[in-house]
Amino acid sequence: MESQTKAIRIEQNGGPEVLKLVTVTVPAPEKNEVTIEQKAIGLNFTDVYCRTGLYPRPLPHGLGFEASGVVKAVGAEVRHLKVGDRVAYGQSPIGAYAEIRNVPGHQVVKIPDGVSFEQAAAIMLKGLTAQYLLRQTYRLQGDETILFHAAAGGVGLIACQWARALGVKLIGTASSPEKATLAKAHGAWEVIDYTRENVADRVSELTGGKKVPVVYDSVGKDTWLTSLDCLQPRGLMVSFGNASGPVQGVNLGILASKGSLYVTRPVLGAYVPTYEKLKQASDELFGLVLEKKITPIIGQRFALKDAGAAQTALVERKTTGSTIFTLG
Ligand code: NDP
Repeated sequence: MESQTKAIRIEQNGGPEVLKLVTVTVPAPEKNEVTIEQKAIGLNFTDVYCRTGLYPRPLPHGLGFEASGVVKAVGAEVRHLKVGDRVAYGQSPIGAYAEIRNVPGHQVVKIPDGVSFEQAAAIMLKGLTAQYLLRQTYRLQGDETILFHAAAGGVGLIACQWARALGVKLIGTASSPEKATLAKAHGAWEVIDYTRENVADRVSELTGGKKVPVVYDSVGKDTWLTSLDCLQPRGLMVSFGNASGPVQGVNLGILASKGSLYVTRPVLGAYVPTYEKLKQASDELFGLVLEKKITPIIGQRFALKDAGAAQTALVERKTTGSTIFTLG
């Protein structure tokens, strides 16, 4: 059965003013989909890239990839979900900024008892990202010291806690003493305030000159060279975001001159292409939440109608941890 919903749409790329809250019709789910009445929605930096057009998509379109809620209807081919299930997703077709929506069933998992809708919406995309970064892109064993930029952010605070759970020494970066304190409180071993200290020098000092085997860099353009300078010979640069702008025009020779380095530019979708992969990764994530090794940190909440203000706060570095949109 179709329903009416409030949802954010954009007709053109641009600033936060292009976000419009409109009423749209949600059709009955296709045979591979479920209809979800959403309870909480996650804000992600990726949403900003989609709004500005850095990640272009055919217009008009909705926004958002991450939310939690209750299943209202189930397509004929979806076997693992039923009406009434508490569910979440972190990798979906664009359009999570809505009260009700349809999502392919293979992208949706049940939320375990003990995890709230808000907590699930705060960690699905960001926590699955931390999972693949720390457990798959570079499989941390527990005796490494690593560098992770934006440690007080959404992905960052989950990564800090995950690293601590693994016994890994995570050196974070942050733009203020308050953010540095927050990241340390959630498991970072050390945090470099990059507005006051030289990151590469400090990493060298903290590691006794050895530097690190892997750098996780979501800042992009501004930190690219510094990050390479923090790596050991044959180290791995994981460039997974563009908060300061994309890394462009790289001369591959720089990887040779800085010690035969490796680079990867990963994306979550490639790590959870099937329900089985998604279930495996989300079981690991929720397991750590239930063991209280990872606590979802919700730094701010906004109403869906204020999605533009929420995105501005994220872009202006005024947020910490996860940001969610609350729904009735
Ligand atoms: P965050 O909460 O981490 O917010 C971004 C943070 O980046 C800011 O708080 C700020 O922290 C830091 N930053 C540094 N330079 C800038 C700048 N010029 N403008 C804005 N922020 C800056 O966001 P998310 O947790 O949502 O995402 C983190 C990153 O991970 C994003 O780049 C995102 O695109 C990426 N990502 C990539 C995925 C993938 O699969 N490839 C999946 C999920 C996220 P500070 O003030 O401390 O510098």
